[in-house]
Amino acid sequence: MPSAIVIGGGLAGLASAAALGQSGFQVDVFEARAFLGGRATSYPVPGDSSEVIDNCQHVLLRCCVNLMDFYGRLGVADRIQFHRQFFFIEPGGRTSVLQAGGLPAPMHFTGSFWDLTFLGLADKVGIASAMWAVRREHGRREDLDRITMLDWLREKHQTDRAIRRFWNQVLVSAVNEDLDRMAASHGFQVFWLGFLARTDGYEMGIPAVPLGDLYGPEEWKRLPSVRLHPRAPVERVISEQGAIRGVIAAGERQSADYYISALPFERMAGVIPELDLNLEGFEHSPITGIHLWFDRSITELPHATLLDRTVQWMFNKSGGRYLQLVVSASRSLVEMPRADVIALAVRELGEFFPLAKEAKLEKAHVVKEIRATFSARPGLEHARPLSATKFDNLFLAGDWTRSGWPPIMEGAVRSGCLAAEAVTRAAGGERKFLLPDIG
Ligand SMILES: Cc1cc2nc3c(=O)[nH]c(=O)nc-3n(C[C@H](O)[C@H](O)[C@H](O)COP(=O)(O)OP(=O)(O)OC[C@H]3O[C@@H](n4cnc5c(N)ncnc54)[C@H](O)[C@@H]3O)c2cc1C
Repeated sequence: MPSAIVIGGGLAGLASAAALGQSGFQVDVFEARAFLGGRATSYPVPGDSSEVIDNCQHVLLRCCVNLMDFYGRLGVADRIQFHRQFFFIEPGGRTSVLQAGGLPAPMHFTGSFWDLTFLGLADKVGIASAMWAVRREHGRREDLDRITMLDWLREKHQTDRAIRRFWNQVLVSAVNEDLDRMAASHGFQVFWLGFLARTDGYEMGIPAVPLGDLYGPEEWKRLPSVRLHPRAPVERVISEQGAIRGVIAAGERQSADYYISALPFERMAGVIPELDLNLEGFEHSPITGIHLWFDRSITELPHATLLDRTVQWMFNKSGGRYLQLVVSASRSLVEMPRADVIALAVRELGEFFPLAKEAKLEKAHVVKEIRATFSARPGLEHARPLSATKFDNLFLAGDWTRSGWPPIMEGAVRSGCLAAEAVTRAAGGERKFLLPDIG
């Protein structure tokens, strides 16, 4: 049985392990932390072990086919609940719903789009014409990685309100970057696959269980050839004569035929300095998750995007009493004291849900992920490495590698599939794991 060592138990590493584990490989996953899932994980609230929270609400769209395939390998795909309605709320509480109707793609939003109250007619006409431009230019225009999404929207004469309330609202959360820093190629990807290619591509999947329960030890029992080693940080890899010969994990030498590094980019130089990657262009973009527990229900909506304020998304985690708020590209909150972040969030919630003004806040928790994702800025695509390295038996995965997607769970899983495919090629029995995009 050929063997592989996977360094890092985030989604990229786990996806590669699951694919190889189902294809006749003995796989050992070494993860530094006590739990799996990396940036997409859950843990008990510090100081209150009775409450398990996600480090931040993670959502996917139905077009994330490789992520769903990975969940399928672990038998947990049915733990993702898909929602067909997007609720946009204006300060004051007026709510619009975007959802697909009966027409075929790309016309499927026609009815609900024209009914949105938070946009005017000129905004909507502009958005509709920009959507046709996305269809026309997708896969054809060559400068999309060199310009920002904002450049592209200005070129298409989008109104300020359409940019702020529509494009910004969808894309900043999807790509975790501001429009004036985000490569237009990423914006295209989201709108093409999520909104135009198929009528159901936009449906939002929300895990019905804590993230960690999607890839806990029980779930891996169906893949007995994958052995998990939590709390086993890889200190370094050992190379000799142009090949990787082993790793030092938790103080012990371990070896295999093939190696996949699924580390975040900032750990590469420390663990595998031999690769000498040029990561100069890589910077982080932060995400802040705000968990609020009220003494009563303040909303019945399952989720909503909140317009014109700092908080971008609300997820109703339990009966309208426990809410999870998300701020992507949250640079303005990084330096803000946690108590001020909570006060800001409660104040803003009151503008959308009047009951929040009367409710008593029982508990709150703020998670600032400063290194949430890399900043998907123009010009970076060519710097994202492919899975092959200068070592014949070492391959790279991670949401920052060249997966063809922005730094999100689907991108991480795709990179894991690509690295696993490269391992099977090197082993002389090429296998395909990556599913094609729905477009
Ligand atoms: C707050 C937040 C919200 C997000 N929201 C969404 C969302 O809604 N939808 C979405 O699709 N994506 C979202 N993302 C992005 C998504 O979480 C990431 O793209 C994805 O999880 C990255 O997976 P990865 O395996 O590439 O990296 P990671 O998850 O970072 O995995 C790397 C792993 O390597 C481990 N490691 C590090 N050093 C070592 C070592 N020396 N030895 C062994 N192991 C080591 C780490 O502990 C980690 O487990 C969000 C991210 C954050 C932070």
